[in-house]
Amino acid sequence: MKHKHKLGCGRAVIIAACVASAAVLAVTALTDGGALGRVKTEISLLADPIDKNAVSSEDDDWQLILINADNPLPDDFSVTLTTLANGHKIDSRVYPHLQKMFDDARSQGIMPAISSSYRTSEEQQAELDQKTREFRNQGYTPDEALEAAKTWAALPGTSEHQTGLALDITTADAKLQSVDIVWNWLRKNSYKYGFIVRYPANKVDITGISNEPWHFRYVGLSAAEEIYRRGLCLEEYLEFIHKK
Ligand SMILES: [Zn+2]
Repeated sequence: MKHKHKLGCGRAVIIAACVASAAVLAVTALTDGGALGRVKTEISLLADPIDKNAVSSEDDDWQLILINADNPLPDDFSVTLTTLANGHKIDSRVYPHLQKMFDDARSQGIMPAISSSYRTSEEQQAELDQKTREFRNQGYTPDEALEAAKTWAALPGTSEHQTGLALDITTADAKLQSVDIVWNWLRKNSYKYGFIVRYPANKVDITGISNEPWHFRYVGLSAAEEIYRRGLCLEEYLEFIHKK
């Protein structure tokens, strides 16, 4: 299958299938220097408790959206984004959970940093163009170069990064702390904040995406906990709750 095992985000990303669609971006520029830094924000995490009975309610649809090669972003997709002080953007509903996760990680000596977040169609296109140029420079024909570039950038409209629900996380300083330490903490704890490791090594055949220990996806607290405890990927979880 052509798109199997490609990198879901890696260095490249995706193009919005709906360039002209109504991506409503009500961007809030935070001026508190937050940037998921040390600034404490008023977080009402406990106001959103895990509710086992609400796993598949319609209210949760936004956080359980499935985007993959077979399920592109809907044309009418829209999201309200919060811009962090470091320039990264995320769905505003996810922001408090992300802040809390980073605050707690840092309080335990972990040094996470966001390396990629929400991406516009223009950014995706630029990424794909750049990759294509690189392969062209290696002697590929235009067609070959584009095909090769696509192994680094998911097809238009099929990247979770376009939803504002996905983040790539690395270490803030590789000299001070290995990225494996950051990923290890996140792998064990991110579900407590509603995030999952979206593309685990043992689910490649289902997700169609290579192992990406850096890519985290917000799915909500109850879904994240269930996915974590049952060892599922999002595709399996969605099947699971629909069967339940
Ligand atoms: Zn990613």
